[in-house]
Amino acid sequence: MSALWSARVPVEAPSRPAEDSRYECVVVGGGITGATTAVLLARAGLRVALLEARHIGAAATGNTTAKLSVLQGTRLSTISRKQSADTVRAYVDANLDGQRWLLAFLREQGVAHQIQTAYTYAQSGSGDKTVEEELRAARRVDLPVRHIAQLDVPFPARSAVALDDQAQFDPMDVLAALIADAAAHGADIYENTRVVTVRRKKGDQILHTAQGDVRAQSVVLATGTPILDRGAFFARLHPQRSYAAAFDVSEPLADGMYLAVDEPSRSLRTTPGESGPLLLTGGAGHTVGRARSERALVDDLIDWTTTHFPTARLRARWSAQDYMPIDELPFVGQLAPGYGDIQVATGFAKWGMTNGVAAALSMSGRILGSAPQWAPVFDPSRPKQLLGLPTAAVINSEVGFELAKGWAGTALKSLMPSKDAPGEGQGVVRRHGARPVGVCTVDGVQHSVSAICPHLYGILEWNDAERSWDCPLHGSRFNYDGALLEGPTTRSLHRPDRSE
Ligand SMILES: Cc1cc2nc3c(=O)[nH]c(=O)nc-3n(C[C@H](O)[C@H](O)[C@H](O)COP(=O)(O)OP(=O)(O)OC[C@H]3O[C@@H](n4cnc5c(N)ncnc54)[C@H](O)[C@@H]3O)c2cc1C
Repeated sequence: MSALWSARVPVEAPSRPAEDSRYECVVVGGGITGATTAVLLARAGLRVALLEARHIGAAATGNTTAKLSVLQGTRLSTISRKQSADTVRAYVDANLDGQRWLLAFLREQGVAHQIQTAYTYAQSGSGDKTVEEELRAARRVDLPVRHIAQLDVPFPARSAVALDDQAQFDPMDVLAALIADAAAHGADIYENTRVVTVRRKKGDQILHTAQGDVRAQSVVLATGTPILDRGAFFARLHPQRSYAAAFDVSEPLADGMYLAVDEPSRSLRTTPGESGPLLLTGGAGHTVGRARSERALVDDLIDWTTTHFPTARLRARWSAQDYMPIDELPFVGQLAPGYGDIQVATGFAKWGMTNGVAAALSMSGRILGSAPQWAPVFDPSRPKQLLGLPTAAVINSEVGFELAKGWAGTALKSLMPSKDAPGEGQGVVRRHGARPVGVCTVDGVQHSVSAICPHLYGILEWNDAERSWDCPLHGSRFNYDGALLEGPTTRSLHRPDRSE
């Protein structure tokens, strides 16, 4: 599946870093967080490189729904349940700063964006109560929200909280402008350059890539979920995959960006098309690798859209994942105690357009000696994250269960051998001797890969929407042929038919 925002960001740079090149800062990851960090540091005169494993926008940012909003579904009431009023205010201040910075950048660079009202809406009576809680949480931090008793829209909706003057855009346009600006200020941008490890040597950090080593005084890991396990972020995050689709629609579409508080979770916005606005819908989130059929979830989203917008004709459908933090606050700052020169940014809970930019302001500020006032609230070593321990316990016991289930299921498969090739677009895990092997058929060709995730040895599940192997433990994903797509691991899958 491919996103509506399929335009590639032009990158004019040598294809690989020069032998043993040395930078003041190396930013790893070409999503909104990494690209903004590179702009801020390059504008401040630092010698900067950005290393991207695939292509700019390859993961969440290129597949987002790109609402730039401080009203974020039920984030404020959800955070308020675990955090103090001051902390919620700091979260809002950070998001307002991120939003302000990006809007000023888009205006300055002439990047298209649309100012819209954001709505958090209910579909049921219990949803109305959730809407009221969000309204109260937003008013406590002085956001100028409005209560709407009944929304007038063609899909099931009741009451809503509304916040005017938010924004939306095409995220690839935004990334293109950020990358061009970083490069214009001297940053070196490298695509197809995956960082595999980072090690300290003689006072520098050495980033090891298949293209060679790169030296840096300081490192920013803006990789969605951190690639280094030293901070054990995988145990503090919950990987959530969800779906989006774009439609041509003949009837007039109301403005606004909508997000439901209750089931079925639905997100709506419009985007300019060649002959009028297109409709974007999204939803059906689930833990990565734990859906019965991802394809059925996309089909369900499409059915819902065509039921409520009868003229809707599908233009594109896609999916992506983001990471939910155990105590509801992003982790931004030092990787772990003693790692002052490696920073991370993760846990944006599907609100990275503001949070990613805020993280960039914080991490670049720390390097330049001017971190924002709210930065300490997101410190990855904050003691208050103990408040998230019950959530972490649940998440990690589910991870343990998935680990055991995967291996037990594989052991049983030896009792039920099957040599039949899976049907087109299907994949199964089988036992080959003692090892679990993933077998799938894509475009008529059968592929076999190790079904063991190289991160922490979870047994992979077949994703029938993306034709990928997904890990139900911490969200690593691999293409049908075993090539690494995303997640905390840095290695592709072993292919039993190839000697390595
Ligand atoms: C379906 C969906 C809809 C969303 N909608 C919204 C929305 O409307 N508004 C909003 O604010 N947020 C939204 N989000 C969340 C938002 O998209 C993300 O929080 C944000 O894009 C994260 O940006 P990032 O730069 O931190 O990470 P990413 O965009 O994931 O970028 C990380 C980059 O790092 C690269 N990388 C990974 N490992 C390595 C390595 N070892 N070496 C080099 N590079 C590496 C990846 O290839 C990737 O390009 C949505 C998320 C999803 C899943």
